[in-house]
Amino acid sequence: MQPTDTLRIHNFSSLEPGPRLIVLGGVHGDETCGTVGIERTVAELDRGELALVRGQLTLLPVANPLARRLGRREGERNLNRSFQPTPAGAEPADHEARLTDLICPLLDRHEVLLDLHSFQSAGEAFAMIGPRDNDGSLEPFGRAFEEGQLALHLGTSTVVEGWLDIYAAGLAQRAGGRPASEAELAFGWGTNEYMRSRGGYAVTLECGQHLDPAAPDVAHRAIHAALRLLGMIDADPNSANRRPSSPSLLRLVSVTDRDHEEDQFVREWATFDEVARGEPIGVRADGQVLQAERDGFIVFPNSTALPGTEWFYFAVASDRDLMARR
Ligand SMILES: [Zn+2]
Repeated sequence: MQPTDTLRIHNFSSLEPGPRLIVLGGVHGDETCGTVGIERTVAELDRGELALVRGQLTLLPVANPLARRLGRREGERNLNRSFQPTPAGAEPADHEARLTDLICPLLDRHEVLLDLHSFQSAGEAFAMIGPRDNDGSLEPFGRAFEEGQLALHLGTSTVVEGWLDIYAAGLAQRAGGRPASEAELAFGWGTNEYMRSRGGYAVTLECGQHLDPAAPDVAHRAIHAALRLLGMIDADPNSANRRPSSPSLLRLVSVTDRDHEEDQFVREWATFDEVARGEPIGVRADGQVLQAERDGFIVFPNSTALPGTEWFYFAVASDRDLMARR
């Protein structure tokens, strides 16, 4: 018999009104640091070592229990894609659609999402934020300042901006310049895009390499930092003067798929390895050398990516100022 997968959701509600924060771990099954950071926080709340003084806190340690049980990134597919509820009257298409149908209404009841992840290659923790304030059609948004403040307070040395726009550009590139359809774009939606579409804001924290023993601490500290920033727990007396870090800010500009099992990197890249324009990054199965199109940084290199999925991202220095209100 198949084990039954259930979602375990912890909710703490202060009697004082305040912000509504939800923290997700294990959206990808092989990323365990967020789960550990969340479990630690639940234990602290249970023991009274941590007190929620205002607002509502929801903690979901394992967002994809099937993927966790399998020890894999995905269950039947990547939970962090097509993250929108199944339309009324339709049947959920797969396991992840059923999870999405449970998690979306949960996100709807909150205004801030902290989504805890880890990555495959070596590299330091970093935070990912969405678009700048805009009223465009792709991802309209009006809470970029709050989102940037949350990212700053998580304490990583790097913050990366942009996802849906380069995803859309990647789709258009593959289609020979034809703009992506709404259905194609919907596939690019993850938890953060959904949260922003519901009037909230969201930060993804990549806590380090999957097996980095420091990654659970990064996740745990980040939950505390978010709670403190939002005024949901009392300030830590030992860090009364804690100021946000001043991380370097990068902007994702492209994503390159691995097309073939014999597509190889020229060396073992780590996230944020710097490359100069023209520098070789990888070699395609047919011998074509992929070179950096400009000076920039490798992000999420995945030497074991399945053909047809993301091989690496490319980022450049950003001119965004996270302290500026506009
Ligand atoms: Zn992940």
